[in-house]
Amino acid sequence: MPNFSGFERSLFSLRSVARKVKKGGWAIPSGWLCLLLALAMPAKAREGSMAQDTVPPWGYGYSDLLADLEHWKASPFVKVDSVGTSLQGRGIFMVTITEGDSQPRPRIFLHARTHPAEVQALQVAKAGIEFLIDSSEEARRIRRNHIVHFIPMYNPDGVELGYARLNADSIDLESNWDKPEIQPEVAVLRSLFDSLMHTESPVRVALNLHSDQFNCTRFFFFHDSGGTSRLYTDLEKTFVADVQGHFPGGIEPWFFVKSWTNAPGLQYPEGWWWTNYREEVMALTYEDSNCPNASEYEATAQALLLGSADFIARGGVYLQRAVEKRRRTWVTQKMVLESEARWLRQNRPVFSLDGKSASRDLGPLIYFTLPHPPENP
Ligand SMILES: [Zn+2]
Repeated sequence: MPNFSGFERSLFSLRSVARKVKKGGWAIPSGWLCLLLALAMPAKAREGSMAQDTVPPWGYGYSDLLADLEHWKASPFVKVDSVGTSLQGRGIFMVTITEGDSQPRPRIFLHARTHPAEVQALQVAKAGIEFLIDSSEEARRIRRNHIVHFIPMYNPDGVELGYARLNADSIDLESNWDKPEIQPEVAVLRSLFDSLMHTESPVRVALNLHSDQFNCTRFFFFHDSGGTSRLYTDLEKTFVADVQGHFPGGIEPWFFVKSWTNAPGLQYPEGWWWTNYREEVMALTYEDSNCPNASEYEATAQALLLGSADFIARGGVYLQRAVEKRRRTWVTQKMVLESEARWLRQNRPVFSLDGKSASRDLGPLIYFTLPHPPENP
């Protein structure tokens, strides 16, 4: 854990508030106060991305990762690949865990430590790998039914340079996804995601692991329907509940932080997923706690993995049911309105000014607005 002084801690906390506002609006109490605080800060601080905002070392460096990769590689279920290189030529390593034959099966993808200071995210990824190579029945079930990928250290240059949030080019990789010239690390992950989606075993859950100093909580950035779809928000709520079910009291409910209230955040990895794969992939940022007593990485990692597996098990069936439900609702509403319209056309009493019934054929007095049919998922 970084050893923040009181001032640094409060600055970091303000930055974290600003970052949430920037992610698309906060729907928590005192949102306006947060916004005002954020606006009162210099623009660069609001970015939360100062090249020199360093309190290194963050702990767990690149050489620690190389040593752990050697250890993990010894498991028969693990494959380690370098999927690309950082700007300064360090490997971006991916740990893949699965078991059994090469039958197609859904993938779960987790990448961590885009922001080097958020070392708790790496601890969660590390605990996830160690859980999955273990001999427990739960780990075995996930290995046999899924292909699980981890990139524990997505920004190795930033880690080694002691930057809090940036890569070697002083760019925040987290918000570089929609830029005309993307950073090499972003290019690596984007093409990897795309190639995995074009296999018989596409990614179904993609988690972007961070840690955030906000009351020492664990939570997901929920994407509102303003930036996604109602169907997607239904799926998100189910996903968060599935994860919470494996760590009761450990993870905040879905409405803790809402983002994308007006539009999707296309600068983030989740914006890229949404643009390209919509409801097909549950892509969310998870924020672990970032505070002196941050802990329980094992419980967190297990909840993320077991919850993802539960969610995937509902899979196509759940998605299909959700679509069918919306379609049925629409058909029912349409039938009711049409029958009312028919009844009114046949029976509508029309009164003249003197109160006596006049004509039945003055044309429709009421215009019916039918709901739009559900969009194709
Ligand atoms: Zn972060």
